[in-house]
Amino acid sequence: MEALEVLAFGAHPDDVELMAGGTIIKLAKLGYPTGMVSLTAGESGTRGTPAERAREFADAAEIMGLSAHRMLDLPDGFVSADRESKLKIIRILRTYRPRILFAPYWRTRHPDHGTCSILVREAAFLSGLKKIDTGQPAHRPAKIIYYCEHYPFQPSFIVDVSDTIEQRLKAVRAYKSQIFNADAVYTDDDKTYVSSPEYFQSLISRAQFWGHRIGVLYGEPFLVREPLGVENPLLLFPAKS
Ligand SMILES: [Zn+2]
Repeated sequence: MEALEVLAFGAHPDDVELMAGGTIIKLAKLGYPTGMVSLTAGESGTRGTPAERAREFADAAEIMGLSAHRMLDLPDGFVSADRESKLKIIRILRTYRPRILFAPYWRTRHPDHGTCSILVREAAFLSGLKKIDTGQPAHRPAKIIYYCEHYPFQPSFIVDVSDTIEQRLKAVRAYKSQIFNADAVYTDDDKTYVSSPEYFQSLISRAQFWGHRIGVLYGEPFLVREPLGVENPLLLFPAKS
């Protein structure tokens, strides 16, 4: 199995695309082997069957140019940071041996997203301990980068995703059962905010907001818990051509 440089975790299929998709696509395009993991199959969502959601997840991974995608079987809506769940993530980390992880910011609205944040952080640490035996060599990723869902934060950095916004929106649209689709017929019972045209528009507006903060068309904000060490600060401020 080829090791990955980057592994992005979401609680549900579509979380990564909705919140960090432009950056993940950008890293894959730059040639870093990149993968994505959904902790659940999204079986508690208002719309879509688990089979549909698995197919959409695979389609989105292909559109994003990912080297690997995995869907785990933690219970949607009831993800908990228990021993068994941590071991499932440790096995994934030791299989793919990623250098950098992406995970949701811990302050969030959906309980699964907050628990995903804690689970990934704790499993990343535990995965480095040899005596936690999964029959695989220990591996601790170098850094966890948190992406923004509901509550904004003061970002540690913002990635320019102007070049990948179209591909990201295409990956989001792969979730046909979840996202606004002009051809779908909805009843009042299965209308959700995520499936509204306003939600789709908000993805673009948010990317514009964060892009504006760094003087580009579209951006995605990220947080790291530790200060960032810099070898040459001038490389952060390239001369404008
Ligand atoms: Zn989610």
